[in-house]
Order: sequence, then structure tokens, then C-alpha cells
Amino acid sequence: MKVLVLGAGVVGVATAYYLWKNGHEVTVVDRQAGPGMETSFGNAGGICPSFAGPWAAPGMISRVLKLSLQSDSPIRFAPRPDPRQIAWVLQWMRNCTAQRFRANKLCMQRVAHYSYRCLREVLAQAPIHDFDFHAGGVLQLFRTRAELQLGRLSAQAVGESGVPWRLLDADQLAAVEPALVHGLAQIAGALHMPADASGDSHKFAGQLAAHLAQHGVSFRYATRIDALEQEKGAISRVHTAYGAMQADAYVVALGSYAPLLLAPLGLKLPVYPLKGYSVTLPVTDPGQVPTLSVMDEHNKVMISRLGNRLRAAGMAELAGYGLALDPARKDLLLRVVRSWFPEGLDWEHVSFWAGLRPMTPDGPPILGKARWSNLFLNSGHGSNGWTQACGTAKIVSDLVCGRTPEIDMQGLTVQRFGG
Ligand SMILES: Cc1cc2nc3c(=O)[nH]c(=O)nc-3n(C[C@H](O)[C@H](O)[C@H](O)COP(=O)(O)OP(=O)(O)OC[C@H]3O[C@@H](n4cnc5c(N)ncnc54)[C@H](O)[C@@H]3O)c2cc1C
Repeated sequence: MKVLVLGAGVVGVATAYYLWKNGHEVTVVDRQAGPGMETSFGNAGGICPSFAGPWAAPGMISRVLKLSLQSDSPIRFAPRPDPRQIAWVLQWMRNCTAQRFRANKLCMQRVAHYSYRCLREVLAQAPIHDFDFHAGGVLQLFRTRAELQLGRLSAQAVGESGVPWRLLDADQLAAVEPALVHGLAQIAGALHMPADASGDSHKFAGQLAAHLAQHGVSFRYATRIDALEQEKGAISRVHTAYGAMQADAYVVALGSYAPLLLAPLGLKLPVYPLKGYSVTLPVTDPGQVPTLSVMDEHNKVMISRLGNRLRAAGMAELAGYGLALDPARKDLLLRVVRSWFPEGLDWEHVSFWAGLRPMTPDGPPILGKARWSNLFLNSGHGSNGWTQACGTAKIVSDLVCGRTPEIDMQGLTVQRFGG
């Protein structure tokens, strides 16, 4: 079967991999000059099934409102006269109950743990050796007792389904990650999630795409997709800047942009961009920077060692599709990094980036068939898209092949939004 994958982010490339493995003739189309150049480019690098969970949580509405009023807050909500933003926010608020949170968290955990197994499968099968992968786990750092208590409750909840975790005091933390020595005084406690990992999703997508290209998968870069055309309940062609393209099946892996191309067909996909920032610094002294990823829970900033670089990423702005870098947020990111790791980094050569997390209002991604017989969705991965990429790719590829996915699809399809 001929399959067109729309989007060459980490999700689109992983989907192309599983489709190719299943014997399909695959073409991937993207407007960028190469794979993983948009949201998959500069994220925090965390492969964190242990704490995959929704932003819609009890207490979040007041927290977001309170934080939005602070000048150096990591969260900003900029209301716009945009019906899509308003509808998304209302749906998000409805998901902030304890009951919805629990259901959404379990669903995201299911996908994320499955996805890590799929990533391992891809690594065992394809020659992808250099994406700064590190499998030693992730540390969650808490600055206050209240934050520590919340973190412990969340760890206990995922621990019930077999996810390993360990509570560390300052001395134990220094033994696990000696580079944290400068920051120990700020810590109320930490959690070690040993089953998590980190790696560079841009490098991963690039190497996987190169491997696929060598084996007959076609990549059309620098090709803007303008519209999808429907005919008799199916997608008949895709219009691009270089003319129309046709296939037997189409997979939409366009991240935050999926709703813009689906709206003209009459499908309102509740995926809205949540802007985040990252800063990447060259490492000058490896002994002074961490090998494990650390999550500063107070500032919601994750810091990952990616080979000879250190990356810190976080911030959340619900403010449309703009990618401008706010100087106050850049400063905040640098301050957070400096507070933990003041030495061993080249502060003269920092590089900033912003990307748009494709957020669903409830948290889980949107996977599988939409209302057309040959259109499949793989979008809405939010802040966990790298963690969930390989699993959601395998699920969607199974569905394209007419097979039942290996995990339960409850809460993962567009039908939960009435689509
Ligand atoms: C600051 C930040 C930190 C993050 N940290 C983590 C983390 O630690 N762990 C984690 O798991 N996730 C993290 N994420 C989330 C993760 O990066 C995303 O969920 C993931 O990259 C989404 O992948 P995607 O392939 O769906 O989207 P994208 O990577 O955005 O890919 C979509 C592709 O579609 C293409 N496209 C869009 N419109 C068109 C068009 N009209 N024509 C042609 N091509 C088009 C784009 O060029 C792009 O290549 C983070 C995100 C941010 C912003």
C-alpha cells in the first residue's frame, strides 16, 4: 500500500519506520529542509514514562491564574479572541477534576511505557547509535516540602503499576549525581525515577530518516502542504507547494499544525500550541555537569545532558503560534541552570530556541482513524511527544495495516472529542 506521512517530526519519522517495516511504500512530506526541525528540534530530551501525565490536573486552574500574574513566572496565559483557544481552554478546565486527571494520567502512562519499549525495539533493529541517549534515569528535584509531598504522592500512584522510584535526601542525591553539589542547599528532597532516560529527538529523527531513506522510503523536504482533498468519504489527494500527491492512506503527523489543515475538511481537532523555551550550552568540564536528567519541579525546567551539551527546557505560554523569544524567559532559564550548575559550562555560547507543544486539552495524544476511511491521526503529543513517539507510531502503523494495536485504545482516539 502507498502511504503518505504528513510531517517529519519525531512522530512522523517514527511512524514512517513502522509503516516501512510493515512493507508499505512510504513517502514523508515536510516543509522544513530536514527531519525534526520544529518542535522535535530543541526539546528537553527527556524520555520520561514515569512522570508522563496531563497538564489538566486538580488545582491547576488557580495555579495557572496565580502564576500568570507573576512577572518571572514559567507559565503565561495570554487570552486571545480566538475561538479555538477559548474552546481548548474550556475543555482543559473540564479535565482538571481528580477523576478526569486519574483517567488521563493512566492513559498517558500506558502509552508512554509502551512507547519506551518500542523505542528499545527500534534501537535494537535500526543502526541509530548517536543521539546522546542515556538510560540512567531522571531526578525530580523539589525545593519545598509541599512540592516534595506532591511529588511523592504522584510517584506512589505510578508505583502502584510497577514503576520503580526512590526518595532521596541531600546526601543520597549527591551520591547519585555528584554534579548537584552546588545546589544541595536548595533541595527539600528528590525522587529518582530509574526507568527513565534522555536523548536528542532531533538527532534520533535525523538518523532514523537517513536509515529509512537508504531503504527506499522517500522524503520530500522543503515541501509545504497546503490542503487535503476529500472525495466520497476518503482523502483523494494532498495539495503541496509542488503539486498534488496521492496515496492509499494518509497519516497526519503535523504536530501543532494538524488542526489548521483538518479544519477546512470539517474536523475540529482540539490541539493547541503551548510554547516552550530551551537553552543549550556547550559543556567545558564534564565533571561539573550532570549525567542524569534533572527536573526542577519548582520552575518546571528539565535539564538534560546531551553528549557534550547541556540543555534546559521549560516555560509554558498559551499564546498562539508565535515563536518570538521573550528576554525575561531566556533570563529565567539561564538563572535556573546557573542555580544548579554554576561551573563547567560555556556561558558565552548559549543558544536559545522556542517550540510549540501540540497540546490536547485532556493530555493523551489523538491517534487513529478520523471520519475518512484512509486518514489516520498521530498528533497532540503535548509535552511528552519524544517519550511517546515510537509507541504512537507503532499503534498508528498497526491501524493502517488493519491490525489491532498492542495496547488498549480507550481514551486515545478522536472519537473522545466527538470527531
Ligand atoms: C520546551 C519543550 C520541551 C519539551 N520537552 C520534552 C521532553 O523532555 N520529553 C518529551 O517527550 N517531549 C518533550 N517536548 C514535547 C515534544 O518536543 C513534542 O511533543 C514532539 O516534538 C512533537 O513531535 P511531532 O512530530 O508531533 O511535532 P513536530 O516535531 O512539530 O513535527 C511536525 C512537523 O510537521 C511539519 N509541518 C507542519 N505544518 C506543515 C505544513 N503545512 N506543510 C508541511 N509540513 C508541515 C513541521 O515542519 C514539522 O516538522 C517538549 C516540547 C517543548 C516545546
